[in-house]
Amino acid sequence: MVQGALASFASLRPSMAIRGVRSLSSRFSGSQRSLQNVRKASPRAGMPRTLTVAASEEYDYDLFTIGAGSGGVRCSRMSAGKGAKVAVAELPFSTQASDTTGGVGGTCVIRGCVPKKLLVYGSHFAEDFEDSEGFGWKMNEKPDFDWTKLIASKNKELDRLTGIYKRLLDGSGVELVEGRGTVVDAHTVEVDGKRFTAKNILVAVGGRAFVPDIPGKELVITSDEALDLPKMPKKICIVGSGYIALEFACIFNALGAEVHVYYRQPLPLRGFDEEVRGFLAEQLALKGIVLHPGATPTAVEKTDTGLKLITSDGEQEADEVMFGTGRKPNVKNLGLEEAGVEMADSGAIKVNEISQTTCPSIWAIGDVTDRINLTPVALMEGMALTKTLFDGVPTEPDHTNVACAVFTQPQVATVGLTEEEAMTEFGDIDVYTSSFRPMKNTLSV
Ligand code: FAD
Repeated sequence: MVQGALASFASLRPSMAIRGVRSLSSRFSGSQRSLQNVRKASPRAGMPRTLTVAASEEYDYDLFTIGAGSGGVRCSRMSAGKGAKVAVAELPFSTQASDTTGGVGGTCVIRGCVPKKLLVYGSHFAEDFEDSEGFGWKMNEKPDFDWTKLIASKNKELDRLTGIYKRLLDGSGVELVEGRGTVVDAHTVEVDGKRFTAKNILVAVGGRAFVPDIPGKELVITSDEALDLPKMPKKICIVGSGYIALEFACIFNALGAEVHVYYRQPLPLRGFDEEVRGFLAEQLALKGIVLHPGATPTAVEKTDTGLKLITSDGEQEADEVMFGTGRKPNVKNLGLEEAGVEMADSGAIKVNEISQTTCPSIWAIGDVTDRINLTPVALMEGMALTKTLFDGVPTEPDHTNVACAVFTQPQVATVGLTEEEAMTEFGDIDVYTSSFRPMKNTLSV
């Protein structure tokens, strides 16, 4: 059931706007609620409906999870809490993901939501210092910013968090096996040469940043490296206009870099409400971010001083070129096909409505299934799966009305249908838009 469409803007300048689509009730109130969005399953054609519920002495474990990110940790802990014997495999820690590195906590904690938010906070001070003058503060000297200090503090926090996640697993009785997990058959996982059997296998390996195959692709960075650069770029080109690309554009812009954003569409943030997209484009331009709509990247080259991005919209030299052109499921060489697990054309693992793959004892949740790639959704899918497997209640995660926040500067948040989707679904709708100026910005200069 669709409950509402709302786009709101926090701390916008010079004005704020809230808009909604009427005739839809708005029971849904944010991501906390989405965590409870689980419902009993109904069958879908073409997918197995066999439940392989806990526990059997034939196997080493009731559940063996590959990937200790948001979804894997949540499902493993909840399942162990129900008395299941659970192990989880995870790669050794690194701030950058690779075929051999990862870390307990996964993308969100190590190279996603958390470090990004820390950089958003760090970058926001620049504007806060400026704004403070209108409130009576006098900046006698321009405050200095030290990028290496911010990155070091961020990394210290990541160490702390990954430690907390390890202790959470341990405290729940989940065994952590460090190494790369692969599927050998329907009930066997191998981690760096050692084999484990399990009644159920959960694949929760997430996704990795994707860079299109263009000349010079080895020269570019993705969000992983952008969160850990040794030096703050004075000028950066960002390709892509999804939420990750735009959040980084705003971070570097607020910290004083010259930022150019290239994307194919006429407006950034594809998939969001058109009016929200237009408004955000306007706000980003007001901040000094140079937007290049309708541009396709064709190559990246090295220059004497840095890099050159070549696009259908011309060339641009910069210290760094970042690609924020999406993420792909992390399924390479996992042994899934051999175990009878089918993939969708996108490369995601095909699952039915209760997260079961085409091999009945193998399950998949989170970004690797490419349903809605957000942390609270991976958590919800993990909790629904625990109910399915260890409460004996086939439980379907509910992907309707998932709230989503974009930490651009200004921020954007949405839930429910876009105006365009509501029109397609309901035909005649009334749309209400309200704009206002945040009180904080009445005194700021
Ligand atoms: P992951 O968290 O990616 O975990 C998968 C784990 O599996 C990883 O730890 C990986 O190392 C491990 N792994 C992979 N292969 C193997 C193997 N063979 N053996 C053992 N271990 C393996 N979401 C939000 O909700 N809000 C945000 O603000 C937000 N910001 C983001 C910002 C960025 C820059 C990025 C990249 C993502 C962001 N996300 C955000 C998305 C969010 O991080 C993901 O949706 C979420 O982490 C998905 O969880 P997951 O469990 O599916 O996978």
